[in-house]
Amino acid sequence: RIKMKGKLVIFSAPSGAGKTTIVQYLLKKIPTLEFSVSACSRAMRKGETHGVDYYFISVEEFKQKIKNEEFAEWEEVYKDNFYGTLKAEIERIRKKGHHIIFDMDVVGGINLKKQFGDQALAVFVMPPSIAHLEERLRSRETETPESIARRIGKAEVELLTANQFDKVVLNDSLEHAFAEAEKAVKAFLAKE
Ligand code: 5GP
Repeated sequence: RIKMKGKLVIFSAPSGAGKTTIVQYLLKKIPTLEFSVSACSRAMRKGETHGVDYYFISVEEFKQKIKNEEFAEWEEVYKDNFYGTLKAEIERIRKKGHHIIFDMDVVGGINLKKQFGDQALAVFVMPPSIAHLEERLRSRETETPESIARRIGKAEVELLTANQFDKVVLNDSLEHAFAEAEKAVKAFLAKE
């Protein structure tokens, strides 16, 4: 088990459940939290910035970093779309004395929680329904029909993992989800 100064706050959910919005809200509300920027090999979306949303790298570069054991966790979330948390990113934030907040899929979330135990709070964001998810992915306008179908298929499996998390936040309304998430994170960070 790795010894940590900064605690880990992990937000996981199926794609489109609203976890990114919740994470952004918490970053504004809790100044001791810093966002862990993941590395990924997918194409940059409109409005995204390298080094802010992700470190955008090629599949080749990603595979090299896997070989070099530079990742705390990584995953091929979709075919040729690799995502991972660099050990150096955790170290960078820890050195500043900040707590770390992660936005990742459920497999990555469960993996990190196993590694960090009591130093980590793993939160699952539950969408009100699969139909809601599909609607949200459609309204994003960055997804193709194929990528929507792929993400929905994955979501159905992901919903079954909710019981492996420390806390489940139902995102039936953002206001409700914001309040519940903020309460859980603040309580966790206040603990010795
Ligand atoms: P998107 O392409 O929508 O940005 O992300 C796709 C999925 O990959 C999301 O569920 C996102 O949270 C997840 N993801 C982002 N970064 C990481 C990471 O570092 N590790 C893992 N395992 N998943 C990640």
